[in-house]
Amino acid sequence: MPARTPKPNVVHLGIDSLRADHMSCYGYARLTTPHMDRFAAGGTVFERTYSPHIPTTSGYGSMFTGMDCFSNQVVALRHKGAMRPEARVMAEILQDAGYATTCIGFGGNAASRGFEKYIEYSGSWGVWNDGRLHKAERLNDVAIPELARLVEQQQPFYLFLRHMDPHAPYMPPAPFERLFYHGHECDPANESMAPVMAFKPFCDFFASWMPPAITDKDYVIAQYDGEVAYMDACIQTVFTALEASGILDNTIVIINSDHGETLYDHDCYFDHHGMYDQTLHVPLILRYPAKVPAGLRVAGYNQHKDLLPTVLDLAGIKARGLKLDGRSLAPMMRGDAVSHESEFYITECTWMRKHGWRTPQWKLIVALEPDFHFKPEVELYNLVEDPGEKDNLAEKEPGMVASLRARMESWIARRERETRMANPMYTQGDWHGFEGVGPFKTSQQAYDTLHIGDPNQAARLQAESRK
Ligand SMILES: [Zn+2]
Repeated sequence: MPARTPKPNVVHLGIDSLRADHMSCYGYARLTTPHMDRFAAGGTVFERTYSPHIPTTSGYGSMFTGMDCFSNQVVALRHKGAMRPEARVMAEILQDAGYATTCIGFGGNAASRGFEKYIEYSGSWGVWNDGRLHKAERLNDVAIPELARLVEQQQPFYLFLRHMDPHAPYMPPAPFERLFYHGHECDPANESMAPVMAFKPFCDFFASWMPPAITDKDYVIAQYDGEVAYMDACIQTVFTALEASGILDNTIVIINSDHGETLYDHDCYFDHHGMYDQTLHVPLILRYPAKVPAGLRVAGYNQHKDLLPTVLDLAGIKARGLKLDGRSLAPMMRGDAVSHESEFYITECTWMRKHGWRTPQWKLIVALEPDFHFKPEVELYNLVEDPGEKDNLAEKEPGMVASLRARMESWIARRERETRMANPMYTQGDWHGFEGVGPFKTSQQAYDTLHIGDPNQAARLQAESRK
C-alpha cells in the first residue's frame, strides 16, 4: 500500500457539455445518472453553479484559473495563442504544492496548460456509417491504468478527466440508444427535424452522424440522454477503482461541466451556443468526507471561478501571491455564507459575439454584432415568470433593459479598471476563425460564413487554437 499522503488527491471529472437539468440528481424526470446520484449523496450538490463564459476554452479557463474573463482574457473557443502566463492554473499550483498532475482528453487547449502528463483517447468523434461511439470506455481504457500508477507513487495527485459523451455527436452504444426512446424516429409525418436540417451552418454536421431520414427531434434528445446514462455507467468504474485502491476518502472528487447544451432550445440546435440557461447552468458535485458534508444541497449562487479557491481551501494549500477572482465554497457548505454573487456578467464569443447580465430574476442579452440565428439585438427575459426564456420583453420593458445595461456597463468598467486590461469581448478580432472578415455586418453574412462541415472539421475546431 502507498504511504498515506498528507494532502488529499484531487480527481476532477470535467465533463464536456453536461447540462445540469438533464441529470436525475438535478431533478430530471429520466433516470440518466443513477451512479453519479448515489455518489453525490456522499457529498454536496451545488444547485446554482453557472458557467458565465461559455463554451469550452473559456469555461475550463475560468474553472482552472479561478478567474473571470477580465483576468484571464479568455472568452473564445478559438482563443488566439496561449493563455496569459499571469493566469496560473490549478495544475501548476498543485504541482508547486507537490502534486503529480495528469490530464486526460484535453491536450493542446490554451486552458489546459500546466499538467506534467497528457494522455489522449480516441473515439470521441465519428459518423453514422462507422457505428456507435464508446467515448467513456475509451477514456476508462487510459484513465484506470493511469489512476493505478498515480496511486502507487508517493506524491498526492491531481487527475483531470474530460469526458466527451454529452458532446455531439450523440451516438451511445446499445442499450443506451433505446433507453429513453421507443418511437419511430423516421416517421414521415413528424416534421420536428425540418428546421434543424434547414440550418445551413450545422446541417452537414448533423447529417453526418444522425440517422439518415431522421424526422423526430425527441429521438436526438434521447440520444443525448442516452450518452449521459452510458457515461454515468462508465464513471462508476472510476468510482469503484478509487474505492478499491483505498484512497477514495482521502480524495477530493469534483464533478462539473464546462458549459451546458442547447438541444432543441432557442433554435440553437444540438450544440452549446446562446447564453440561455441550458448552456449556463452546470452541475457541481464535491465529495471529500473530511470537509464536505454528505447529503447536502447548496442553493447559493456560484460560478466556475470559485472552484480553484475551493480546492485550495479543502486541500489546505496556501499559494503565496495568488490573486483569484473566485472565492471558496467552503463557507457555503458550513452554512456561514448563503450565496456568492447572484448577479453576473455572461459572454459568448464562439458562434456569436454577445454579452449580457444575469440576475436571479432577469437576463439581458446584448449582441455585439449580428448573429447567424437572426435573433434580435437585445433580449430580455424574466427568469421567474418565464424560466424557458421564450418571451423576449426587451421592447415592452425598456426601463429594465436600461437598468440592467447600466449595471453591466458599470461592472465592465470596474473590471477593466481593476485589471488594467480591455474587456476581451472587445478585442477578439476574427473570433469566428475567418481571418480578415472582422465583425459580421449582418446576420445573413454570419449565416453564410459560419459552417461546420463534418465531425473531422468539428474535431479540428475543438483541438486547434487560433495561432
Ligand atoms: Zn465544451
